[in-house]
Amino acid sequence: MHEKMNMNEALRSAARLVASSSSAYAFTGAGVSVESGIPDFRSASGLWSRYDLMEYGTLGAFRRDPKKVWKMLMELVEIVHAMPNAGHRAMSRMEERGWLRGIITQNIDGLHQKAGSLNVVEFHGTVFRLVCLACGRKFPLADFMNALPPVCPSCGEILKPDVVFFDEAIPEDAMRAVKNIVAHADLLIVAGTSCNVMPAAMIPAEVHQRGGRIIEINPEPALSDMASVVIHGSFSKAMQGMLEQLEAGV
Ligand SMILES: [Zn+2]
Repeated sequence: MHEKMNMNEALRSAARLVASSSSAYAFTGAGVSVESGIPDFRSASGLWSRYDLMEYGTLGAFRRDPKKVWKMLMELVEIVHAMPNAGHRAMSRMEERGWLRGIITQNIDGLHQKAGSLNVVEFHGTVFRLVCLACGRKFPLADFMNALPPVCPSCGEILKPDVVFFDEAIPEDAMRAVKNIVAHADLLIVAGTSCNVMPAAMIPAEVHQRGGRIIEINPEPALSDMASVVIHGSFSKAMQGMLEQLEAGV
């Protein structure tokens, strides 16, 4: 259980937890990309306020009418061409310095990698890779940017972004990577996600159950019961503040 702390105390406590951990990971969600100009897709200004989820957000919808779903996807492709923010960069720096082992992200925008993070598990896939539902081949989106909707060079089918649609299961390799992380993480920095959907919700819960500590960074904290430190506030400020403390040698 965390106690109420002011921002500086919280940052210092968080940095101390990171410094004393031996296997720290981060778990991020839509909230960390907001400062990069990507609105939460579920928010009032997000994609799903303008496109019906069942008509545009499911594998069934894509199989029925891929051209129609690509109207929404074109917008998505434009939205995710954004720049990482200071919070993404601080996480990448923490990995470089050995303070962070890796990141599990629910985001499909590739911003952690753009910031330089190397060990990133994309729980919901990525927009930047395309997959052919007919032959299973995968292609970089970049190769098709001038020819959207993209067509499979071998079978002529319209390619699907390699993201997990709402009626799809988490890919097996991502699930395996997550289980492996959860089994040995002694600290999890949860940022920009309220973890209220399964199976994302089980990630902090399992780390906590196994005795790992939780740091939560959210404007509206949701994990207070299990978090050792809660940082109410912006992702970029919290991560920069934590990194400063770490580099100063807390
Ligand atoms: Zn194909």
